[in-house]
Amino acid sequence: TNTTSTNLIEQTEKFGAHNYHPLPIVVSEAQGVWVKDPEGNKYMDMLSAYSAVNQGHRHPKIIQALKDQADRVTLTSRAFHNDQLGPWYEKLTKLTGKNMILPMNTGAEAVESAIKVSRRWAYDVKGVEANKAEIIGCNGNFHGRTMAAVSLSSEADYQRGFGPMLEGFKLIPYGDIEALKAAITPNTAAFLVEPIQGEAGIVIPPEGFLKQAEQLCKENNVLFITDEIQTGLSRTGKMFAHQWEDVTPDIIVLGKALGGGVMPISAVCANSDILGVLNPGSHGSTFGGNPLACAVSIASLEVLEEENLTDRSLELGNYFQQQLRAINNPVIKDVRGKGLFIGVELTVPARKYCEALKDLGILCKETHDFVIRFAPPLVITKEELDWALERITKVFA
Ligand code: PLP
Repeated sequence: TNTTSTNLIEQTEKFGAHNYHPLPIVVSEAQGVWVKDPEGNKYMDMLSAYSAVNQGHRHPKIIQALKDQADRVTLTSRAFHNDQLGPWYEKLTKLTGKNMILPMNTGAEAVESAIKVSRRWAYDVKGVEANKAEIIGCNGNFHGRTMAAVSLSSEADYQRGFGPMLEGFKLIPYGDIEALKAAITPNTAAFLVEPIQGEAGIVIPPEGFLKQAEQLCKENNVLFITDEIQTGLSRTGKMFAHQWEDVTPDIIVLGKALGGGVMPISAVCANSDILGVLNPGSHGSTFGGNPLACAVSIASLEVLEEENLTDRSLELGNYFQQQLRAINNPVIKDVRGKGLFIGVELTVPARKYCEALKDLGILCKETHDFVIRFAPPLVITKEELDWALERITKVFA
C-alpha cells in the first residue's frame, strides 16, 4: 500500500519543496501528548508543534468548538461582520490588558502587521519624517519568514538569495541594554523582542533587561513590542513571558497556541492610540478574524484558564528542569528555561540525541544544532514526564 511511513516520506520528499529537514517519522493520529505513526507506534510529543499545541493535541473542548462552528459558518471575509469576532476580541483584550486587537492568521503575518503599525504610528503620531522610521531587533531573533521578518534576521541562511532586504532595521546583541540605548535615534519607531528567544535555543536575557528596555522605550517614545508567539499563552509558567519581569509592552504579538493547534490564528494586541492608526483600506486579510478560527481560539483560551495550564507549566517545568540538571553527563553544557519551555545545550550536535530519543518514543527537535528543546503540551502529567525522564536519562547514560 501507499500508506506506510516509508512510502509517505518518499512521496513527501519527491513532491514537496525541501525547506525542512524533518525527523523520519510520520504522524497520522494524535491525542493529548501522544502521537501515532501509520504502523501504530506511539510517541510522546515533546515539541508541541513549536508550542502551538500547548493545550494538547485535539483537546476535546477545542474540537467540539471547531465542529459546532463548522456546522454554522466558517468564513465571511471582513466584508461582513461575523458573530465570533467580537466575542474573541473582547476575550483577548481582557487577557492582554490592551483595548484593541488586529486579527491575522500566522505568526509571521502578525509580526509583519506589528511592523507596519509601528511605522505608521511613527509617522502619524510620533512625527518621524516620511520613510525614515527605524525598527530595532536583536541578534539571534526569530520572527518568521516574511520579507520584513527575514530582513530583520541576523541569520545569513534566512536571507541568502532573497535580496534585496527591506530597509529601516537595526540589530543589537540580545540582552545588551547599552547597545539598545546607543541604537535608539529620534527616528526609532519600535524595539521588537522575544522575551525568551525560542528558535535561538531557549535563550533567556539577563535579568532586568526587559524592564530596562521598557523604561528606555518609554523615555524615548519608542514602542516596546514583545513577540510572544512562541513564549506566550502559558508556555513559560506565566500567561505571557514578559510577566517574568512585570513589564507592560505597548504591543503584544500572539500566534501559535492562540489557535489551540487546530486553526491558524494570530493577533496584534495594543491600545487604540497605536492600533488606531489603521483605517479602512490600510491593512487586511481574507481569513483574518474568520469565525471558525475565532470560535476555536475562544475555546483554546478557555482551556488555558480552566485547566490552570499556566501554573501547571510552572510547577511541572521546575520539576522537569531539576530532574534534567541531575543527569550527569559532560556533553550537557546547560539546562535552562522557564516553565515547560526548556533548552538542553550540548557540547556536541544535538540531532543524534533527538534520533536516539525518537527510537525510545520521544519526539523532540534540535534547535540551532546544539540545543534540544523540550516543550511538551502543557496538559502533560507528572507520570508522563517521569516516563520521558527515564528515557532521556537512558539516552545520556
Ligand atoms: N515569532 C516567533 C517568536 C516564533 O517562534 C515564530 C515561529 O516559530 C514566528 C514568529 C513565526 O510564526 P509562523 O511560523 O506562524 O509564521
